[in-house]
Amino acid sequence: MRTTQMLAFVLAWSAIGLAQGAVKTPPQPDNRFKADVLLVVAHPDDESGVSAYLAQLLDQGKKVAAVYMTHGEAGHNNMGRERGISLGAEREMELRHALTELGIQNVWFLDGRDTPTQDVLQSLANWHHGTCLEELVRMVRLTRPEVIITWLPGFFIGENHGDHQAAGVLATEAFDSAGDPAVFPAQLAQPRHVNETLLEGLTPWQPQKLYFFSDANDDKQFKDKGPQYPTTGISPAHHAPYWQVALEAFRFHRTQYNSYIEKFDGLNDQELQKLAKQDGWDGPVELIFGKANVPSSITGDVFEGVIATPIAFVRLAPPAAEQHSGVSIAMGGPWAFYEHFRREHGLMSIPQAAAPEIAVNTGSTLQWPLILRNDSKQSVELSLTMTLPEGWTQPDLSQKYLLAAGDRFPVQLELAVPAKKSEAAQELVCTAVSSVGTVGTVRLRVQVRAGGLPQ
Ligand SMILES: [Zn+2]
Repeated sequence: MRTTQMLAFVLAWSAIGLAQGAVKTPPQPDNRFKADVLLVVAHPDDESGVSAYLAQLLDQGKKVAAVYMTHGEAGHNNMGRERGISLGAEREMELRHALTELGIQNVWFLDGRDTPTQDVLQSLANWHHGTCLEELVRMVRLTRPEVIITWLPGFFIGENHGDHQAAGVLATEAFDSAGDPAVFPAQLAQPRHVNETLLEGLTPWQPQKLYFFSDANDDKQFKDKGPQYPTTGISPAHHAPYWQVALEAFRFHRTQYNSYIEKFDGLNDQELQKLAKQDGWDGPVELIFGKANVPSSITGDVFEGVIATPIAFVRLAPPAAEQHSGVSIAMGGPWAFYEHFRREHGLMSIPQAAAPEIAVNTGSTLQWPLILRNDSKQSVELSLTMTLPEGWTQPDLSQKYLLAAGDRFPVQLELAVPAKKSEAAQELVCTAVSSVGTVGTVRLRVQVRAGGLPQ
């Protein structure tokens, strides 16, 4: 009797306990948005350089997501009179159609604005660098990619869009910081209210591998710097070669390329193949190895070494302190920035131009940023001399620069660019001279072209 009463009591108590404190499992991130590969680029159409490879990944069952830093507000409109933000709205829609054609559904646009120059620092400033990084880190934590593919951060003769470079800079920064729980902690904090709008409940995320691609004119310099993927194989999903899958997606970018796209609108397969060969659509997709937090070779497959379980945050080793001594001259501006950037992010072995280089437009002004430093114990007076190729005009170099001990003097030389194009890059030489002789020399390879982006 007593036992029965006790049993009834225990059962009743257990039932109350279950009702009051049911076992809970932890809330999980939304797997619909988990990606294997996150593409981080600047403008609608930037995917075109790698879309034939992305189509291969999709056929392998990989999930691909994309982040665009701008809507592509700058440039001409081949289709109508809309420009600026309205043009960006159109290009967002063209891009969504293009990615749907490829098979990519998850795509986000950040708040950066198109910056039509070659200067990565202007793009980063225009995008409010810190704000943009916070947005991109959020997207990495939300999509949790194993691999990030982005533009090569570097200065090269080519299209060399500052926005492309800035996308690569930000993607690298996000790769190295999204796994750090001390970075943008409000994104990670536990939401406090049902109507929470501030704390986001994300998880730190460390991607495993980082790859780049480039629009430099000379792609021979990237040989053996990463894997290459032929595009002539047939996609089982699209029943067409991968280059054609890429081209079909590209057809949506009509505000940018309608006059070109119309050329292949009515072509039969044979004619299309001829055009693909002629314009390079059927060439391999060339990736450049950036870094890996898992064992991996440089030219091995993108997923070589990638493991299925999340990896721990990899804190960057602090680079050796910079050593300066005596009096010196060095490149300033973006070139100086990239020296710091490569060192800070452990990217010392990614390709860079053999010597500083730039392409500038005929009849424009070349701005050559320099840094003069005096790390000696005495003040020094410097002057500059230049050796220029034929066709260039010597600027007024009568200016003297007085540097006290410890001074750093940013100087910007301005040179009139010749009216005639140069087939190859020409070398411009600038030498700093003190009362006791030559202090140092910097060289800049300059190609004079027509119709490219302004410096
Ligand atoms: Zn672009």
